[in-house]
Amino acid sequence: IDEQCRIRYINGAMQALSGYASGELLGQALNGLLPDAVAAQHDNLVMAYIRSSRTSSVLGKIREFAIRHRDARMIPIEMKAMDLGMVDGMRYFGAFLLDVRERRELAQKNASLLAQLEQQALCDALTSLPNRRAYEAQAGQAMARVARSGSGALAVGVADLDHFKRINDRHGHAVGDAVLRTVAQVLREAGRVTDVCARLGGEEFGLLFPDATLAQAHKVAERIRAAVAAAPTPLPDGTVLHVTMSIGVASLALGATLDAAMSDADRALYQAKHQGRNQVVAAA
Ligand code: GH3
Ligand code: MG
Ligand code: MG
Repeated sequence: IDEQCRIRYINGAMQALSGYASGELLGQALNGLLPDAVAAQHDNLVMAYIRSSRTSSVLGKIREFAIRHRDARMIPIEMKAMDLGMVDGMRYFGAFLLDVRERRELAQKNASLLAQLEQQALCDALTSLPNRRAYEAQAGQAMARVARSGSGALAVGVADLDHFKRINDRHGHAVGDAVLRTVAQVLREAGRVTDVCARLGGEEFGLLFPDATLAQAHKVAERIRAAVAAAPTPLPDGTVLHVTMSIGVASLALGATLDAAMSDADRALYQAKHQGRNQVVAAA
């Protein structure tokens, strides 16, 4: 461009990038190619540069912005502008433009892929419940909150479907999977908004009760147990199937580990199984 910011030369690559034939742009104002926000200031910046001490915050530096294609699309580019000096009493400026569309697209794809992976890493594929890793992370956060405030109760639960092997044996694995999805949906709905219900693996689920005493956790777990027992899973033959769940709950005291509390809950679960299943037992 010359000092009036009129285009004096573009190469073949710039023609391809902008969609213009060379003759269409020669003599035209550069502003037609610039984003509105840049176009509003560009001429003034160039004039100020020419009048002033020839220092510029723009020249020589690589900047990201966009040019306007002939069809009005904005194309992201990286640009490095430079002062080409005087020829026959006229000052000229030039710029190298780099098409960064592919790079931007790749960056966006990577970002969404990463978000997807993060989601998958924390989510059980069959039930869409949080998985064991997510459960442990949430428990860690809840424990940190209690430790910071120095008060507040926290309880955990381990829930396990009763005689689930029989369901698979009688009805097949696909029905077993459908039951797991039914139970997951119940857990999502029955847990209070603040409770965490996760699939720890197989037919075993982890419960986390923030701000709950053992007695309160017992109550919530009892509601969950009843809701699971009441939830029907439709079978291919038109009938429905019901399953029950046993739950052990334990308090997670300040300073105790998640592992220790889960072991307590596991022992309570074992007792619930031993006492006839379909019930909640709180660790002593
Ligand atoms: P209990 O009441 O003592 O817990 O008896 P159970 O039959 O539920 O316990 P067991 O541990 O013997 O069997 C668990 C069964 O869960 C066995 C396994 O095939 C089934 N299972 C685990 N994961 C899945 C799954 O993702 N899909 C299906 N369909 N079945 C699963
Ligand atoms: Mg079981
Ligand atoms: Mg089990």
